[in-house]
Amino acid sequence: MSNSEKIALITGASRGIGKAIALNLGRMGIRIAGTSTTQDGADSISEYLSEAGIGGGGYMLDVSEDNSVESCMLLINKELGHPLIVVNNAGITRDNLLLRMKDTEWLDVINTNLNSLYRINKVAVKGMTKARWGRIVNISSVVGSSGNGGQTNYSASKAGAEGFTRSLAQEIGSRGITVNSVAPGFIETDMTRALTEVQVKNLLGKIPLNRLGQPEEVAEVVAFLISEHGGYITGETIHVNGGMYM
Ligand code: NAP
Repeated sequence: MSNSEKIALITGASRGIGKAIALNLGRMGIRIAGTSTTQDGADSISEYLSEAGIGGGGYMLDVSEDNSVESCMLLINKELGHPLIVVNNAGITRDNLLLRMKDTEWLDVINTNLNSLYRINKVAVKGMTKARWGRIVNISSVVGSSGNGGQTNYSASKAGAEGFTRSLAQEIGSRGITVNSVAPGFIETDMTRALTEVQVKNLLGKIPLNRLGQPEEVAEVVAFLISEHGGYITGETIHVNGGMYM
């Protein structure tokens, strides 16, 4: 199957890592369904895709809502076709020490970062099974492996995503579908722009490459995994973190 026949669903494609992935896969000739929680965000995705000469468009999706996932997947199916590539990138942080953590901070992070994988992949796998080809990439995080004080909710959601990846890879490998995780370290996006100068300085001391990563550096790894070159890799977590966790 040629790239132009493939459709990739990329959640959280309005900015940051998701946008870099959408542009990268789009430049490979793949049609893109990129999502945002708002109509403005969806429109901006359609705009940057069309400016780059990439087929597809922006869609509104809240990965924490069953109904939203169901209706968005139906619409993408109708307008573009079934996505044989799914990049579960949408994610949030709600950092707090466990003793101070509110129920909503715990539940929102687990629901958005982990329950979303159940919702989206369950629907997506059906079309991939029929086509006997598919690629799923779940974006996790270095803290899913290393842990990080103040992020019990976030690191649990990301460690969960990696366990989910390994189990699903075993279930559907025989259908020609690979399932992998990509675990970024600290990447320059809105998510890390909230860090103070002192926090960044402390962080850099722990990163052998002595800089934060760029969204494109994560997108390149995703592009490899979804290509034919990455066809014999499944159930893996690939770290992209400048050496901060080995
Ligand atoms: P970001 O700049 O904060 O962007 C987050 C994206 O997720 C936005 O497009 C946002 O859509 C979308 N989103 C948020 N909540 C959503 C929901 N409920 N339903 C659907 N979409 C939702 O994030 P980022 O830094 O690019 O991070 C992308 C992924 O990489 C996340 O899974 C994050 O955990 C992971 N990661 C990031 C870093 C880092 O250093 N940046 C490190 C490790 C892992 P809207 O348009 O609606 O805002």
